[in-house]
Amino acid sequence: MKFRDKLARFMWGRNGIDALYYFHFILFMVMWILQYIVRADLAKALISIASLLLAGLMLFRFFSKNLTKRRKENQQFLNIWRSIKNFFVLQKNKARDFKSFTYKKCPSCKANIRLPRKKGTHNVVCPRCKNRFEVKNLF
Ligand SMILES: [Zn+2]
Repeated sequence: MKFRDKLARFMWGRNGIDALYYFHFILFMVMWILQYIVRADLAKALISIASLLLAGLMLFRFFSKNLTKRRKENQQFLNIWRSIKNFFVLQKNKARDFKSFTYKKCPSCKANIRLPRKKGTHNVVCPRCKNRFEVKNLF
């Protein structure tokens, strides 16, 4: 049997690499670089202990056979990651559209709605939940 087949058989039913693994890997690399930048001995020791623990966690998740639990962890990570990403995309769009549009949050479904920037009070219907609400634009 070739080494590749042996490896494939060994990895069968194990978690392997997922999005959370990549995130841990980047975090690990950042810690590894920090060890060379940081000068205080205590901070250096703490960073190296944390990076060892992280490497242990990465190995554990990589070889774990409890796929249900690992996928749930990965999904939770992806949900957090998506909300962080969406926040920055919204800030970028707000800056881009500043002159002609304003962004308001629907009070019932919390969706961000892009509205034309017109001075005064306006009635708005949320496109997602059809809720009616008032919007005040001061400028
Ligand atoms: Zn709504």
